Amino acid sequence: MIVTRFAPSPTGYLHLGHAFSAFNAWRRARDVGGRFLLRLEDIDPTRCRPEYADAIQEDLAWFGLDWDGPVRVQSQHLPDYSAALDRLAERGLIYPCFCTRADIAASAAAPHGPDGAPLYPGTCRHRSPSERADRIAAGERFALRLDMTAANRPNLDYEEEEIGRTICHPEQFGDVVLARKDTPASYHLCVTHDDAIQGITLVTRAIDLKPATDLHRLLQALMGWPSPAYAHHRLLTDDTGKRLAKRDKAVTLRSLRAEGISARTIIQRLDYQ
Ligand code: GLU
Repeated sequence: MIVTRFAPSPTGYLHLGHAFSAFNAWRRARDVGGRFLLRLEDIDPTRCRPEYADAIQEDLAWFGLDWDGPVRVQSQHLPDYSAALDRLAERGLIYPCFCTRADIAASAAAPHGPDGAPLYPGTCRHRSPSERADRIAAGERFALRLDMTAANRPNLDYEEEEIGRTICHPEQFGDVVLARKDTPASYHLCVTHDDAIQGITLVTRAIDLKPATDLHRLLQALMGWPSPAYAHHRLLTDDTGKRLAKRDKAVTLRSLRAEGISARTIIQRLDYQ
């Protein structure tokens, strides 16, 4: 059975780009009698707000999308992510990183990963176990990074719909952060973990997340999680061709609703774009 999901972060109100993504995932499941799940990716305490989490559910329901089972709220599952990190730590595949953003910006010779973040220069990779223990005991805050050289696997690929087997190059991300200083998890870890335990068979999401799939595939291989199929869809743009984004106050479902526009009209508009 096909299982899809919509996994927004509650950092603002849903806009047309989200509506497109959610409708896509919902329709792919419902067309074939499959399951459609809703997951709130709210592990970033600095950006996520409970009122947006409520609004997302209200807006989706108004939009006519129903989901199966309870909503999975990531912030309620932090011990699950810690357990996954413990498994990687036992195999020596992650290490604590004490660097600040400024340290990294100052030392990186400016190469950036596919997500736009500066590639980590590896400063903390070879610290001794005793130095690590001392610094942690002294209360220094740290992130956990994947040791990409030790962790990477050859010949990883995944199924991209309409394209076929797609080769992965997770090394482009360098020693990526799997647990942040302020929260014991990261987007990459949580999304991969949850897709696995929720039994997602088809991940539909926007094309801007396609590079991250290489890394997600590596985490699946390391953790023994299944590899779902992926269908990365185009990004919705505004009249000037610019991608819709929350920070630009892209048209929200709420504002369209307040103007008296129906969900049906929005769906027709999305379909034709
Ligand atoms: N939470 C992510 C976002 O809102 C989407 C994650 C995903 O679909 O894989 O951008």
